[in-house]
Amino acid sequence: MPELPEVETIKRSLAVNQGASMIRVELIREDIIRKREFEPEAVHGALIQKVARRGKYLIISMAGGHHHILIHLGMSGRFYMLNEEEELQEKHVHLILHLNNGKKLVFQDPRRFGGVWLVSSPEDITGKLGKEPLQRDFSSAYLHSITQGRRTAIKNLILDQNLIAGIGNIYADEALFLAHIRPDRAAASLSQQESLRLSRAIKRVLRQGIENRGTTFRDYRDGNNARGGFQEHLQAYGREGEPCLVCGSLIVRQKIGGRSSHYCQLCQK
Ligand SMILES: [Zn+2]
Repeated sequence: MPELPEVETIKRSLAVNQGASMIRVELIREDIIRKREFEPEAVHGALIQKVARRGKYLIISMAGGHHHILIHLGMSGRFYMLNEEEELQEKHVHLILHLNNGKKLVFQDPRRFGGVWLVSSPEDITGKLGKEPLQRDFSSAYLHSITQGRRTAIKNLILDQNLIAGIGNIYADEALFLAHIRPDRAAASLSQQESLRLSRAIKRVLRQGIENRGTTFRDYRDGNNARGGFQEHLQAYGREGEPCLVCGSLIVRQKIGGRSSHYCQLCQK
């Protein structure tokens, strides 16, 4: 599932389209639109002012400030750029944005857990999201404050999009491995020192994910429909039964809050 580093990578690849104009919105599958505050035709001829990200949402904002196209990739979605004359290679394309710079932006999503929002104010959709973990105000003090009084597993806490925006299963497992904290520890049991380690580990794995253009386990592709590279650097996620790169004992997998978690029983306490 695309997480913050994957969506950020796509955003950066698609930023070249800022300043281009929308020729036409081709809506192939109506029910991919999750909220429709304007008709697709309303942005025909409009200038793309900004391509942004908040949490796992991509936000394409038109000049004038009243028309925003939000895209969430769900489990299996891709959003990428092709030259206008290039043929679509894959199925399940639900939306195509045709631009005046010779490009088209293609949204495809076989499982359709993702979606598209046509809204006048992106905050209506993203307003409840928690802090952006790569920004300064996501600090160890903030992380420690949200652990207080919470019995839920620390893994579940850092996956809660209303507390921290953009972390999913892969980067949660990697951050906890790096911080030497077991994913099933009660959030409230973290010491201040552990919150500091975990906040630093979260920032570090997200930055490394972005530097490597995201993690491709199965579906994810970047804004040029190319695979990411961070799967080569994973230390915990997807490595059950393989030796821990630090101590050599085998990485285990355990369900926590319905999600598979991968960790080292020796290194993580
Ligand atoms: Zn280990």
